[in-house]
Amino acid sequence: MLDVLRKIVQEVSVAPNLETALNLIVRSVQRSMSTQVCSVYLFDPGDQCYVLMASEGLHKEAVGTVRLSAAEGLVGMVVERAEPINLENAAEHPAFKYVEATGEERFSSFLGVPIIHHRDVLGVLVVQQKDTRRFDESEEAFLVTLSAQLAGVIAHAEATGSLGTIADQDKKDVIDLRFEGVAGSSGVAIGVATVVAPPADLASVPDKSAKDIEQEIAGFEEALKLVRRDIKVVGRSLAQRLRSEEQALFDVYLRMLDDNALAGEVISRIRQGNWAQGALREVVTEHVRQFSMMDDPYLRERATDIKDLGRRVLAYLQEASPAALEFTDETILVADELTPAMLGEVPSDKLVGLVSVHGSSNSHAAILARSMGIPTIMGAVDLPLTRIDGRELVLDGYSGRIYVQPGEDLLAAYRDILRGELEEAVELEALKDLPAETTDGYTIPLWVNTGLIADVARSLDRGAEGIGLYRTEIPFMIRDFFPSEHEQAQTYRKQLEAFAPRPVTMRTLDIGGDKALPYFPIEEENPFLGWRGIRVTLDHPEIFLVQVRAMLKAGEGYDNLRIMLPMVTSVHEVEEANRQIDRAVRELQEEGLNVSRPLVGVMVEVPAAVYQVRRFARRVDFISVGSNDLTQYLLAVDRNNPRVADLYVSYHPAVLRALKFIAMEAHKENATVSICGELASEPGGCLLLMAMGYDMLSMNATNLPKVKSTIRSISKEDADELLAEVMSMDDADRIQVLINERLTELGITLPAQPVIPS
Ligand code: PEP
Ligand code: MG
Repeated sequence: MLDVLRKIVQEVSVAPNLETALNLIVRSVQRSMSTQVCSVYLFDPGDQCYVLMASEGLHKEAVGTVRLSAAEGLVGMVVERAEPINLENAAEHPAFKYVEATGEERFSSFLGVPIIHHRDVLGVLVVQQKDTRRFDESEEAFLVTLSAQLAGVIAHAEATGSLGTIADQDKKDVIDLRFEGVAGSSGVAIGVATVVAPPADLASVPDKSAKDIEQEIAGFEEALKLVRRDIKVVGRSLAQRLRSEEQALFDVYLRMLDDNALAGEVISRIRQGNWAQGALREVVTEHVRQFSMMDDPYLRERATDIKDLGRRVLAYLQEASPAALEFTDETILVADELTPAMLGEVPSDKLVGLVSVHGSSNSHAAILARSMGIPTIMGAVDLPLTRIDGRELVLDGYSGRIYVQPGEDLLAAYRDILRGELEEAVELEALKDLPAETTDGYTIPLWVNTGLIADVARSLDRGAEGIGLYRTEIPFMIRDFFPSEHEQAQTYRKQLEAFAPRPVTMRTLDIGGDKALPYFPIEEENPFLGWRGIRVTLDHPEIFLVQVRAMLKAGEGYDNLRIMLPMVTSVHEVEEANRQIDRAVRELQEEGLNVSRPLVGVMVEVPAAVYQVRRFARRVDFISVGSNDLTQYLLAVDRNNPRVADLYVSYHPAVLRALKFIAMEAHKENATVSICGELASEPGGCLLLMAMGYDMLSMNATNLPKVKSTIRSISKEDADELLAEVMSMDDADRIQVLINERLTELGITLPAQPVIPS
């Protein structure tokens, strides 16, 4: 049964559209369960009812016409209860509703299971049979398992289907189609999508309108010619070593590329309007699907060959037009997985928004986006990447929503919000040179987190008083190999020089987790619990020493360098890092440089560190809390996973208790304690942290003015009172509500909800 299940899920997940997917489901279930009927009902949000979308066994005319409300019939009951209903004789059940069009009166037993995606009942999967017998437990378990696995596939196919393909849908249609993601960086963006796909990755090639059909065909034929040549060359060079059946494979490959096989189909898709890469993806996917459904294992294997051929042709197409990306004046960059390197591909004056299918609000791509002030949606898992390129989008970076092809009313509502944002930014600019001082005279320094060169100018413009976290891994990530000591020193000097005499806290390389270096791959089952941060650099003293030496060299003459150690778990790590830092200082002094030992600090970002703050504080000069990681480790919620994004809550009572405890412990040793996690950039978070006694707050430059205005609007006494109240509460949602109320009373504007006339 497990095999059957796997095969159905695999087939359905590569179906080209919703209709094919549903037809496949009903056919395969009916066959594998040997029932007379299998049907799928799906929710239609327009009519608020469940529609019979596909059926094997009921009258075909009923498909698309039978509609049931959420409380109607046995299907309605499955929806209402959100659990399976298994009946021996359906007609006897009081909820049974006879729908003549279906012809279901012939069938006695009924098993309906809900199709649930993200807690929503998308629809119902029903099997029926003539015999008056209850479906047995294993049948029920099979259908429940299948439905659970197919829910995501159906949701995705539904979303994709409503967008249509380039060939069959006028791109200008107004549809206001909405997709849900995770709010990554606040703000609203209105622009046109440009999809970036990793090279030679056929599955993520987007559809695009062909500008010049003949040219696309010519390019495709050229790519084919090159692949044919490659195959012949490989075939010839292996001729001596291969058996004749194996050699025949090369002929099969060549035949697949013939004009009346794959190639002909691709050309006809190009003639329908798609560009060569998109047409190739469509045809290859379709063939792969057909082959992988075959029962004969030899033929099934051919799916891999077709994929391989497709990838080869794609590589040549991409090579021939590397600058296939086009950026409009308002570009919204869309990617399966957004990386820092991708952000650099768009000229910054044209980039208005970002969307990533993977990742969540505390992924590093989102953190970078916040520092650049670019509205961003992460974890848009249902977004049909291949159908988005070139379409107009509205991003709501407050709620995490994406609207595709928005209508005029929606656009007008979001343009209003954009205007409001601009007005607020102008008001906040006036605070640039004022201190972050409460109404009763308590001040707290506001520092920034940086990583990109552009962050420096933006931070100084907004009145930052220091750098609390310079993420040195960012310049490492946008390169092809480890930068030399000299190159590192030059990069670091730009930060130290621009901020001097204000302090600059440089964190030693924090790779691992969701931060991969393309030239230093770390393959792990569980990267957030793996080789990360200080664990990597202590294992590679050559990397650590070079980096510390580069920092010290860069700081020569400025006296504003602070060095910070990430992901520290144990005292011996601090001691070892201290020894390395001493050694680097000594070496450089011996080389004649005028450097002295900088202030050194430890990041508290794993639970073990929370309970050792005093021990660390005795060995270093300062403590800085990395609340992004601390939250994920305390709550056991992957900061990168959109599926659990709702559970990643900074105001969780456990997180707040830990934060308060750390500040208290650090002060017992007279160490300064700051925070450089994203919580410090939130208006509510900054008030609580100030009241907890944090000595400074370090945040993204974008939010700094807002944080300053929040602190300037309250007295320290009131902030202390708010903290006391919050600490007595036991529910994060209620804490959020209380904080929002308090902020509104203070006149702090919360993200506006668009007013869209219906
Ligand atoms: C943190 O974990 O809070 C932090 C500041 O470091 P990063 O986000 O780079 O992991
Ligand atoms: Mg961290």
